[in-house]
Amino acid sequence: MASSEVARQLQNDNCRPLSLSGHVGFDSLPDQLVNKSVNQGFCFNILCIGETGIGKSTLIDTLFNTSFDDRVSTHFQPNVRLRAQTYELQESNVRLKLTIVNTVGFGDQINKEDSYQPIVDYIDAQFEAYLQEELKIKRSLYNYHDTRIHVCLYFISPTGHSLKTLDLLTMKNLDSKVNIIPVIAKADTISKTELQKFKIKLMSELVSNGVQIYQFPTDDETISKINATMNGHLPFAVVGSMEEMKIGNKMVKARQYPWGIVQVENENHCDFVKLREMLICTNMEDLREQTHARHYELYRRCKLEEMGFRDTGPENKPVSLQETYEAKRHEFFGELQRKEEEMRQMFVQRVKEKEAILKEAERELQAKFEHLKRLHQEERMKLEEKRKLLEDDMIAFNKRKAATELLQAQAFASTPSVSLKKDKDRKKDPGFRLELLCFDVRDHEIVNVQEQSEREKLERDRISHREFQK
Ligand code: GDP
Repeated sequence: MASSEVARQLQNDNCRPLSLSGHVGFDSLPDQLVNKSVNQGFCFNILCIGETGIGKSTLIDTLFNTSFDDRVSTHFQPNVRLRAQTYELQESNVRLKLTIVNTVGFGDQINKEDSYQPIVDYIDAQFEAYLQEELKIKRSLYNYHDTRIHVCLYFISPTGHSLKTLDLLTMKNLDSKVNIIPVIAKADTISKTELQKFKIKLMSELVSNGVQIYQFPTDDETISKINATMNGHLPFAVVGSMEEMKIGNKMVKARQYPWGIVQVENENHCDFVKLREMLICTNMEDLREQTHARHYELYRRCKLEEMGFRDTGPENKPVSLQETYEAKRHEFFGELQRKEEEMRQMFVQRVKEKEAILKEAERELQAKFEHLKRLHQEERMKLEEKRKLLEDDMIAFNKRKAATELLQAQAFASTPSVSLKKDKDRKKDPGFRLELLCFDVRDHEIVNVQEQSEREKLERDRISHREFQK
């Protein structure tokens, strides 16, 4: 900032500029800050997104000039998984806690529709963890291990065609959450002219789809020029290799082919050096800052608004946290009471409905009972009539029986006995007894006829005997 601008700013802030008469010492503040930061150490978190085997691990190894011994992933992962590994690195007296998050299984599934979701969830989870730490009463942000992603290296296949839908979709879903730096992986597999066309195509596709990639900042005079130039080189075409070869009298990182050698750190061969310069040497702090001031801030704002916190109330008046809390509490209790009342009314309504159903059932039961009672009454009356008829029959039968017995007694003193059942119950049966009576009468008639013929035969025998004697 120019000094005149600073003076104007101070006046606006109602602050009067004064000059010192001698050395005081606060000009050492930047040094104090540097010392403090160096003592504290730094942390930087890189997310690598790209298909399995696209060269993510190799590039990270090449960038930090070390072997991170990342396990080789298979192409048979059922879904996308994020694997984070933290390393403690030191260069001179500066310590760096570096976390590398790898997307395992990215692009390996047949259905890639939701491949970006685990990545979005992971980034949000790191923001949430930081927010929770911030909201704690006893927070320890000073030695908190910040796992928020500072940069996302997005690896694009060197197809020479266009961006895959998966790439567009993933970048679109991440651009408001993380600083995306797109890189064309394995750039040694594409020719120079094809690469130039490919870069232009990719950038125009990103712009037309509204994907916001990270732009190196141009507001700092010292680096604005280089950053502006580098923004024009995006996406960087990179080659990774940990293999060292002797070129001239220097050992360089390279990839050897039957037709020649690709030098990783040769700017005529690829953009690896540009990426390393921009990512590590020039803009690492800006990436950290952007993560906190832009992406995390957005997450925090949305989260707090979701929780009901507002900076201003109605009529645009500033609202304190306490007021917001009270208002929210009031709103919550109001809502609770409304819900309670709703539930109570629903309960009363249900009870009424149930009561009506029960009453209806009772009425139906009563009607059924009355109907059955009436039927029973009618049945009883019918039976009563039948009983009377039966009794009349019995009386008539008994009379007939008495008459028959009298007749029988008069006619025969002894009659062949007909075997009758001795079952008392059967004898009491008027029908059976009537049958017996019929048998008696018929037998009686048979006996009479037999006796008659016997008597006639005897008479005939007596006559014939008398005639014989004569
Ligand atoms: P990752 O699964 O994405 O981590 O991929 P790796 O880093 O394990 O690399 C997979 C294969 O690609 C290895 O055989 C690497 O040697 C090779 N590879 C890595 N970077 C490059 C590159 O820039 N160019 C070429 N041609 N091959 C590369």
